[in-house]
Amino acid sequence: AAVGGADSVSGRVRVAVRLRPRNTEELVADADFADCVDLQPELKRLKLRKNNWDSDTFEFDEVLTEFASQKRVYEVVAKPVVESVLEGYNGTVMAYGQTGTGKTYTLGRLGDEDTSARGIMVRAMEDILANISPETDSISVSFLQLYMEYIQDLLNPANDNISIVEDQKTGDVSLPGATVWEIRDQQSFMQLLRLGEAHRIAANTKLNTESSRSHALLMVHVKKSVVDRDEFSLDAQNRSIGNLRPPMLRKGKLIVVDLAGSERIHKSGSEGHMLEEAKSINLSLSALGKCINALAENSPHVPVRDSKLTRLLKDSFGGTSRTSLVITIGPSPRHRAETSSTIMFGQRAM
Ligand code: ADP
Ligand code: MG
Repeated sequence: AAVGGADSVSGRVRVAVRLRPRNTEELVADADFADCVDLQPELKRLKLRKNNWDSDTFEFDEVLTEFASQKRVYEVVAKPVVESVLEGYNGTVMAYGQTGTGKTYTLGRLGDEDTSARGIMVRAMEDILANISPETDSISVSFLQLYMEYIQDLLNPANDNISIVEDQKTGDVSLPGATVWEIRDQQSFMQLLRLGEAHRIAANTKLNTESSRSHALLMVHVKKSVVDRDEFSLDAQNRSIGNLRPPMLRKGKLIVVDLAGSERIHKSGSEGHMLEEAKSINLSLSALGKCINALAENSPHVPVRDSKLTRLLKDSFGGTSRTSLVITIGPSPRHRAETSSTIMFGQRAM
């Protein structure tokens, strides 16, 4: 798989795995049991225990232990994507894993009480704000939830069935019905995240579902005006001569996706609405998996049509776009089967 920096292969997916620490319950109840995984971050390896004496070994682009700081996770998982967005490309950062393994902690944590706890969304905006000029550039943000193939506006909950529009010529994806906030400072962005989260909780209460059963998507459009330095010609007195071209506009789009919980819902025990919900989540996550596999294999055909999730991400897949996936896992031996299936999803993406 692609490695960051200059060696990066465009179109490929960068995959990191992050282990969360044991929670209080696991520390107590599973005190006599070893973790189901054993991480070797310097070798970028993870071992998944099969039994007391045997394990399977997997390699990732990055292996983040329970001691990895939020800052380091941002730098490894998201910073290269944010940098390319500032250069005018599209990029996606996604978190995939079982409910309770740290997807929202990794992406969406605000860190009001403790700035070192800030997650990827907050750090990405800080980075973007620090790299634009408020006079000439703009940042516009939408915040959405995708539930049962319906796109809901987390900035205006009345707006609960937004459609996807695709430009016939450029292939660019847009959501004309979605609320857009112009962001000029970090405070207004934090306000946006808080409002969106409050609306998400309210919408899910109304729908009688858990937030882990929907995908949350933050879309950040960055327009940056750049003067092509090669166009400058100076005369002997250092005055510019010749016709300067108007500044170029670089447009980049960053999408941060907090995916629905990947745990298998037992279809046998589900009926009616719960069964439909389970089918919808399975559909979108498996469609996503197929697209990521196609990217990883450099296949010319990425099957984006199968779900709203993948249609939304269409112009952020492949080509000059960058995709970074963080798979989140818990240490508990009780969740070994789910952890194994998450690891397999990550492996197929590489
Ligand atoms: P998910 O979004 O995948 O369902 P959460 O992000 O809500 O999971 O995390 C579940 C719980 O575990 C939360 O209480 C969260 O604070 C905690 N947690 C997750 N990751 C970490 C971590 N790396 N360090 C400390 N606590 C974590
Ligand atoms: Mg969550």
